[in-house]
Amino acid sequence: MIDLITKEEATVVYTLNSSERQLLSTKAIKGSENEQAQVVLLSSIKQESLWLRCDCTNDPAIMTIRNRDGNLHLVNIHNRGHHSEQCAFYKLINNKDKEKTAHEKLGMKQSFNFHKLATEKKVDPEAPIVKSGQKNKQSEDTLYRLIACLFESAGINEISSRIPLVYKERVKRILSAAEQFRLGSKSLRSEMFWGIVNHAKAYEAIEKEISDKTDINNVPTKLILSVIDNYDFTDMGMTVSSTIRNPSGEKKINITLDADCKVVLANKRFTSEDAPFILAYTLIYDTKDNRNIIRVGRAYIRPLASIHNLIPCDNRFERSAINKCESVYDYNKKRGNILKIVRPLLSISAPISHQAIRPDIIMHSAYNKAIINVFANSEEEYLKVRHGQTQYMEEIAQVYNITPEQSNDTQEGQLTISDGNIHEIIKASAKFVLNIED
Ligand SMILES: [Zn+2]
Repeated sequence: MIDLITKEEATVVYTLNSSERQLLSTKAIKGSENEQAQVVLLSSIKQESLWLRCDCTNDPAIMTIRNRDGNLHLVNIHNRGHHSEQCAFYKLINNKDKEKTAHEKLGMKQSFNFHKLATEKKVDPEAPIVKSGQKNKQSEDTLYRLIACLFESAGINEISSRIPLVYKERVKRILSAAEQFRLGSKSLRSEMFWGIVNHAKAYEAIEKEISDKTDINNVPTKLILSVIDNYDFTDMGMTVSSTIRNPSGEKKINITLDADCKVVLANKRFTSEDAPFILAYTLIYDTKDNRNIIRVGRAYIRPLASIHNLIPCDNRFERSAINKCESVYDYNKKRGNILKIVRPLLSISAPISHQAIRPDIIMHSAYNKAIINVFANSEEEYLKVRHGQTQYMEEIAQVYNITPEQSNDTQEGQLTISDGNIHEIIKASAKFVLNIED
C-alpha cells in the first residue's frame, strides 16, 4: 500500500489505488501515454509537498519526488525506512540510478551551430527578409529552435506553480538551462547574454577573443536574448528597444542591429504593436572576403504571452488564451484541483499516425487530457490545414478549438473573439480535464 502523507505529521492524505500504484512503480516508455500520466500524478504530489510511504516492510520506506534534469523521479529519503527487495519500488529506484549513469555517458548536450548561418548572403536592407515560420513547421528557424529547446528545458512553457510567474525567476531558469546546450563547441551558457543592455559586453567578448586568438576564422558566435518592447526597420538596420525595470525606476534603451542582418519574424500576423516580444540574435566575427567585422548574424522575433511568464506565442488570441490559462490554473488550485498546462514549443508526434502535430495548449490532470487550439485566422486554406491536424491531435486528447470570427463592427477583414469567450472555452476544458460536472 502506498500512502501520500504530510511531511510534518505524517498524516495520510490519500492512499493510491491499485492502478495509480501500478503506474508509479513501472518504468514508462519515453513519450508514451503512461509517461504523461506518470508526470501528471508525480507533479501533483510534488506540488502538494507530500511524501509517499510504502509499507512493504515493517520499517516503511518514505519516498519523495525530485526534479532531475527536468524529469520527475521517485527517490527514497535516506534513513527513512526501506523497501523489501521484492517491492516494485525497490526495483524501480535502484535500476534508475544505473540508468542515469549510462545516460550521462551518452552526453545530453544538444548543440546549435551558426557557422553556416554566419556567412549567409547579404540581404537588401530596404526589404528585410521576413520569412513566415508558419508555413512549414518542419523547417523551423534555427534561432526559434534554440529558444524552444532552451525554454522547454527550463520549464518556461509550463503554467504551474513550479516556476513562479515572475520575470527575474524565469530568466534565472533560462540561464541555468543554457548549461545543458552547446553553441558550436562552447557551452551555450558561456556564450549567451541576456538583454540588449549587454550587447556591448558580447561585442567586447568577441574583441577579446580576436586579440587572444591566432585562428580568427574560428571566433565563437555569441547569442543575445532579450525581451523587447518595439522594433522598427530603418536605413540603418533594425532598431529595437527594451525597458529595464529596477527598483529605482524604469529606463528605456535602444540599439540598432546592422542593416545587413537577416531578420526572421515568427509569422506575419503580428506587428510591432504587439509587444512584448522575445528577440534572439547572434553576434559574429565576419571574416568573409577579409571584411573582418563584428556584426549581427541573424535575428528572430516572436511575441510573448506576457512579460511575467515569457511564454512565446503566435498572436493576440493565443496570448489571451495563455494568460486566461493562468487564472484558470489558479482558480482550480485554490480548490485543490491540480492542472498541468503546457504550451508546447516544438512539434510532437501523434502516437498512432506518427504525424507531427503542434497543439497550442495541452491541459491535463490525473484523469483526463485536453488540447486547446487557438485559430488565428478564418481563411479557408488556413482552416483546412488546422482542421486536418485536429484528427491527429484527437489521438492524444479531447480537442477544443477556439475560432475567431469576422467582426461586423470593426474594419473589414478584422477578426474577433472576446476575452470572455476564450475564458469560457478554457474553463470548459478545465472542467472536462478535472472530471467536474456542471
Ligand atoms: Zn516498498
